[in-house]
Amino acid sequence: MTDLLANTQNIVENKLTTDYDYIISGAGCAGISLLLRILKEPQLRNKTILIIDSDLKQSNDHTWCFWEQGTGFLEHLVYHSWTTLNFYTDEHKLPLNIDPFSYKMIRSVDFYNYAKNLSCKRTKIHWKQATITEIGSVEDYAFVVADGNRYTAHYVFNSLLINEDKASYEADNCYKLLQHFKGWAIETKEPSFNPDEATFMDFRVGQDLGATFVYVLPTTTTSALVEYTFFNDEVLTTEKYDSLLSNYLERYCKLTSADYTITETEIGVIPMTNHQFRSHQDNLINIGTAGGWTKATSGFTYQFIQKYTAEIVTFLIADKPPIVEKGFNKAKFNLYDSTLLNVLINKKMDAKDIFYRLFSKQKPQTILKFLDNDTTLKEDISILMSVPTSIFLPAAIHELFSRPHKK
Ligand SMILES: Cc1cc2nc3c(=O)[nH]c(=O)nc-3n(C[C@H](O)[C@H](O)[C@H](O)COP(=O)(O)OP(=O)(O)OC[C@H]3O[C@@H](n4cnc5c(N)ncnc54)[C@H](O)[C@@H]3O)c2cc1C
Repeated sequence: MTDLLANTQNIVENKLTTDYDYIISGAGCAGISLLLRILKEPQLRNKTILIIDSDLKQSNDHTWCFWEQGTGFLEHLVYHSWTTLNFYTDEHKLPLNIDPFSYKMIRSVDFYNYAKNLSCKRTKIHWKQATITEIGSVEDYAFVVADGNRYTAHYVFNSLLINEDKASYEADNCYKLLQHFKGWAIETKEPSFNPDEATFMDFRVGQDLGATFVYVLPTTTTSALVEYTFFNDEVLTTEKYDSLLSNYLERYCKLTSADYTITETEIGVIPMTNHQFRSHQDNLINIGTAGGWTKATSGFTYQFIQKYTAEIVTFLIADKPPIVEKGFNKAKFNLYDSTLLNVLINKKMDAKDIFYRLFSKQKPQTILKFLDNDTTLKEDISILMSVPTSIFLPAAIHELFSRPHKK
């Protein structure tokens, strides 16, 4: 099968190499979010779009969680949500009431299926399953080479870290931590969870491999997604994650392996870096993680994708270059992120102590706004006063003067 939408009439043959208005390179969270936002705009209804991905996007390869207030863009896809998040250390439990925010979960398989079903009805939207090997821009258009074929478009929206962008990331002497994790979706025989409350960060687990915590996201009394997460520089073997997950369930949820069935697994590695990803090169626009939209100190990306794809669509409607200018605000949060990475990488303070201080001294809503890069300077100062200045100020000064903080 060569097409993502083999059951539709939108089959792209290799010979079809004429121009598109837009090519979406990578049908992941950013590519599909952009597509969905374009599809909902009547002014963009006549645009021809090619979406290319090497994967058929048929499985639940990601579970995205994020917080927002009120009804969001893809509210109908929200699988479950919580307004109480629990934060644990060995000594403390903080029940965080995040209202008016909700912490929401979207399963990627629902997201992909929704996009495929919507595009089936549109003859100008073409999907192709192919491996992209090259992307670039030439004068006033951009191109993608996939499975040896070259496709051109007025704009290419790219979510792959590829070619010189990949080389530049690898060569950069920037901070490069990994947020890596394995999750099990489990079903228990007996009611074992409270679906009204999620465990946001459980730091009661060993910290000997760097910042380590567990999420428990119950969706019913008998089902939950449990994820074991690390911030360090080396992923573990599958067996090691499995043994840690099973120990955690036994110790903190009182569940032995006979009490539950694993229905799905999720493995992830998210870059935590202060590398300045290139936002665009002429008509080639980088989006998603490849565009630098991942928050360096949390790995959260979903809401930044929503924010920036909405901005891109506004530019497309206005017939302006769809380049997200992040300006002073982004530079400010780049500095905060670099400072925290500096503290973590140089082991100046444990993540569990930093996050405990933040969540115990500030309203959780303020911290969520901070993690969304949405706080005011006054709020930033109050947040920064929650952590030891003797540690964070020298780190911030170092980051301010030792590294470029590009837009
Ligand atoms: C397992 C996991 C869970 C996550 N959970 C959260 C979360 O809960 N909340 C949050 O905010 N963030 C989360 N993240 C971080 C981030 O939101 C996701 O990584 C998100 O998917 C990033 O979107 P993207 O479009 O940039 O990349 P992706 O979604 O990874 O999309 C890239 C696409 O490119 C395709 N591709 C790659 N190489 C090629 C090639 N050579 N040719 C053709 N196609 C190619 C891939 O198949 C993929 O579909 C998670 C990340 C992972 C890995």
